[in-house]
Amino acid sequence: MFKINENYLKLPGSYLFSTIGKKVKEFTEANPDKKIIRLGIGDVTLPLAPAVIDALHSAVDDMAKKETFKGYAPDLGYEFLRSAIAENDFKSRGVTIAIDEIFVSDGAKSDSSNIQEIFDANCKIAVCDPVYPVYVDSNVMAGRTGEYIADTGKWTNVIYMPCIKENNFAPELPKEQPDIIYLCFPNNPTGSTITKDALQKWVDYANQVGAVIIYDAAYEAYISEENVPHTIYECDGAKTCAIEIRSYSKNAGFTGTRLGFTVVPKDLKCGDVMLNSLWARRHGTKFNGAPYIMQAAGASIYTAEGKKQTMDQIAYYMNNAKVIREGLQAAGYSVSGGVNAPYIWLETPKGMTSWEFFDYLLNKANVVGTPGSGFGPSGEGYFRLTSFGTYESTLEAIERINKL
Ligand code: PLP
Repeated sequence: MFKINENYLKLPGSYLFSTIGKKVKEFTEANPDKKIIRLGIGDVTLPLAPAVIDALHSAVDDMAKKETFKGYAPDLGYEFLRSAIAENDFKSRGVTIAIDEIFVSDGAKSDSSNIQEIFDANCKIAVCDPVYPVYVDSNVMAGRTGEYIADTGKWTNVIYMPCIKENNFAPELPKEQPDIIYLCFPNNPTGSTITKDALQKWVDYANQVGAVIIYDAAYEAYISEENVPHTIYECDGAKTCAIEIRSYSKNAGFTGTRLGFTVVPKDLKCGDVMLNSLWARRHGTKFNGAPYIMQAAGASIYTAEGKKQTMDQIAYYMNNAKVIREGLQAAGYSVSGGVNAPYIWLETPKGMTSWEFFDYLLNKANVVGTPGSGFGPSGEGYFRLTSFGTYESTLEAIERINKL
């Protein structure tokens, strides 16, 4: 008789976005004449850049000809893409990453949830709080997190590292020693970043205590400030303690088409065992990875036109972020983020909880955002707005909020 993995039953469910959907549906049904503006989504809205579309067309044509047809992609990904990554994402920042340390994937969500499989079931994890929920959820499924305590919104066997106003939304080194440390900068949902000096402290700490850092840099392309590292490998010693996860979703609009990569340095070892060799055995190596067509599209963003076109898209979103940040600041809100990330994080006013503020904005301004408490217990009292809307709708949303 088969048995299920009972850890799945521990997951509280996708409470956040299903509740938002339900509330918006009820409101729309009751108020059909009201125009809702959504500033809550974490998905991009601009179409793929022309250079990417051209590359997709030509890759499809390759598949139509015997001479250029491609079957299963190579295990780590096509060399043309991994070389472009090594050159543009790392060498240009003074970092040497070998192409056999780069593993092309179908996106950061898969890798950030699957990477825990190469670690022992008893490893203890530490996470930023609040943060992208996938790190905790995947460890719940793997049985590492203990029990969920509904009152506190915490798992008993997880080290939470609060990222709050008092520490400028960057975590402090934990008092209890973790084995696996998940860091996400620029951060979803707070939009905060970490300076190179602060990240160096984490790298030194991980090397000292023998922990591994899983560094999610999905929003790297949004960094605008000088002292903010684009990759953890800008820090000395990171290759012996850190894995970095990247995505083409937010920098090039691949949320629907899927592409990402993960760096596992060969110097990262547990005793004599290279984590790079373990990740090379990951499941889905050939079958789940990214198809040739998408890898060709990914390579196109490293061409001169691809770079320009994708940077223009980021500039568009960041201009929206500026509208939100400055508009809300002018209205007296306490706001952070939105400088190195497409996310703006605001403190809920008048002592409202995250959900009370959600209802208030929906009812009074017909604007939908995301309650901060959905990203972790320290997100209570905060609210996330995103800059992925159109410029016009972003302006209108802020005007409406300012009139409240
Ligand atoms: N990492 C973070 C921090 C994210 O916010 C997201 C998506 O919102 C992802 C990873 C997922 O990226 P992908 O679309 O490449 O799976």
